Amino acid sequence: MAKKLDKADVVIVGVGWAGGIISAEMAKAGKKVVALERGRHKERSDYIGVKDELRFDNRYQIMQNLSSETMTSRNNIDETALPIRTRNDMQVGTDLGGGSVHWAGATYRYWPYEFEIRSKTIERYGKDKIPKDMNLQDWGITYEEMEKYYDKWEKTAGISGEQDPLAPKRKNPWPNPPLKETPSLKLFKDATKNLGLHPFQVAAGNMSEQYENPDGETLNACMYCSFCTRHGCDFSAKADPLATVIPTALKHDNYELRTRAYVRRVLYDKNSGKATGVLYVDERTGEEFEQPADVVVLSGFALTNNRLLMLSNIGEQYDPKTRKGLIGRNFNGQYNSSFNGTLGFFEDKKFNLYMGAGALGAAVNDYAADNFDHTDLDFIGGGAIELRQYGFGAISSSGNVPKGTPSWGKKYKENSLHYAYRALRIWYTAIAMSYWHNYLDLDPTYKDEYGDPLLRATYKFGDQERNIAKFGIDRCHEIMEEMGADIIEDDEVPEEFNHSFTGGHYTGGVVMGDDPETSAVNNYLQMWDVDNLFVVGGSAFPQFGGHHPTPTIGALSYRAAEGIEKYMDEGGQLAEAKRTTQKA
Ligand SMILES: Cc1cc2nc3c(=O)[nH]c(=O)nc-3n(C[C@H](O)[C@H](O)[C@H](O)COP(=O)(O)OP(=O)(O)OC[C@H]3O[C@@H](n4cnc5c(N)ncnc54)[C@H](O)[C@@H]3O)c2cc1C
Ligand code: SF4
Repeated sequence: MAKKLDKADVVIVGVGWAGGIISAEMAKAGKKVVALERGRHKERSDYIGVKDELRFDNRYQIMQNLSSETMTSRNNIDETALPIRTRNDMQVGTDLGGGSVHWAGATYRYWPYEFEIRSKTIERYGKDKIPKDMNLQDWGITYEEMEKYYDKWEKTAGISGEQDPLAPKRKNPWPNPPLKETPSLKLFKDATKNLGLHPFQVAAGNMSEQYENPDGETLNACMYCSFCTRHGCDFSAKADPLATVIPTALKHDNYELRTRAYVRRVLYDKNSGKATGVLYVDERTGEEFEQPADVVVLSGFALTNNRLLMLSNIGEQYDPKTRKGLIGRNFNGQYNSSFNGTLGFFEDKKFNLYMGAGALGAAVNDYAADNFDHTDLDFIGGGAIELRQYGFGAISSSGNVPKGTPSWGKKYKENSLHYAYRALRIWYTAIAMSYWHNYLDLDPTYKDEYGDPLLRATYKFGDQERNIAKFGIDRCHEIMEEMGADIIEDDEVPEEFNHSFTGGHYTGGVVMGDDPETSAVNNYLQMWDVDNLFVVGGSAFPQFGGHHPTPTIGALSYRAAEGIEKYMDEGGQLAEAKRTTQKA
């Protein structure tokens, strides 16, 4: 029998960027907050001395243990899904700060077109441009409405950037100047300019200089140490929740953080139609607790947000046969049809690739969103073309060898030494669409260590995914040629989704919108069905935009925080249901 605890105003499930932002905003507003995080307690100092490529890049030490909880995957509805058990194939953060601690820091806003993709595609190209099996939806919010929330998140995070010449003009400049321009970035920028494109420095969650954010948290200048993606930053130079929103929340006595607290259910009262709290296990003792609250916030990353609603029987499960139900619908993400491009080897140029930072890079957005004419193209939307200088450690740099090199022996050693710092990669971060046949539900066979069903993903590509990948690879090839690479190796266009959920870019399942028939949450991420339940994070994306997701998750979290405060003052639904049914 679970022990019932004192009621809180707000209970928050999962503390990464999303849960950390809600934590800080609710704590500042004086609410009695309990935040529950399944992982261990972490502070910035815990990441001192983590420059260990084997532990973090190869063995994914700070990612979820997939033997106790994972998800299953299949392409088609009539297949048996199998569990993903290697962290090479699925990377989900755990421990305080979640995946938001090991993210790289690449920062892009989504484009105005992407928030209204269905309406704007029909307006410019007609309804037939949208394939029949694609479930394209507007977000129920516009870029103009999102601007102030993006601005707020970028200031909290201290993003270092410069104006992208093609992007909508920003109301405020980036909080910090861009990172350094290295020789590889300069080569990319010169080549893209020669081709008539519009390069800029990727905006980065790696600080170009020391910075104090509006909450008074200090971030240090980046050392370009190159142990960044998949690592925590031991210089406190990466914008992450441990350096920003979590310490802000912890300064308030009305905020209580409990770690090793694994939430298993949202408690729901059918009579009142309200969430009443959550049930969690203290993983240190195995004891179960009920944490009652006036408002429940799910911010446990897209996968947990979906699974907890399904396990708790809240909302109607999506069924691809009838196309009814909303929970689990529009599951999507940037998998192996994104991040395709080319690898170039340079015989007479050596770059300083022993240094780098997660988001140190240059990009062009000429092939993003609807910035180019799609009339004669066999896909919708686009993405950025990026060159990133992550920096190579000893292990990863040894893999920089042209195709045909033996994987061992004298020739391998020669090539791995010769090409270690002579290989550059360019990729296309293509948009990922939602389809009627792609969704999440509970697996009928596989269970976690508590005996609860795992989440099951059913996901296959449409022609769009293969076509956009081909387009992106060709554009990357042109740029690499202009950069003067001696050997150019193009990625192969993926035939089908390969069950590799790499990179942590998972979204959908509890999508936002202005119509309760096609969205589970409104544009404050408040559930239409249960008005004191807010589901915050990438789970709200109806489609994945053509860029990395975290700034949009951060911005939406600030919007949700504003909504929660408003709800606590006024109650009721915060957004008007417009019933602009967007069914294809
Ligand atoms: C290698 C890598 C690089 C990335 N780089 C970029 C990038 O450059 N740019 C970009 O935009 N995005 C990037 N991302 C994506 C980014 O990490 C995520 O978008 C972001 O961290 C999501 O934030 P979140 O708060 O929703 O989830 P998280 O930060 O993962 O937080 C969720 C928290 O919930 C906790 N939790 C989950 N389930 C439960 C439960 N049942 N009970 C209690 N707690 C629970 C988790 O332990 C975790 O701490 C990257 C991801 C990876 C894997
Ligand atoms: S590259 Fe910069 S931000 Fe990344 S871990 Fe090193 S110092 Fe920190």
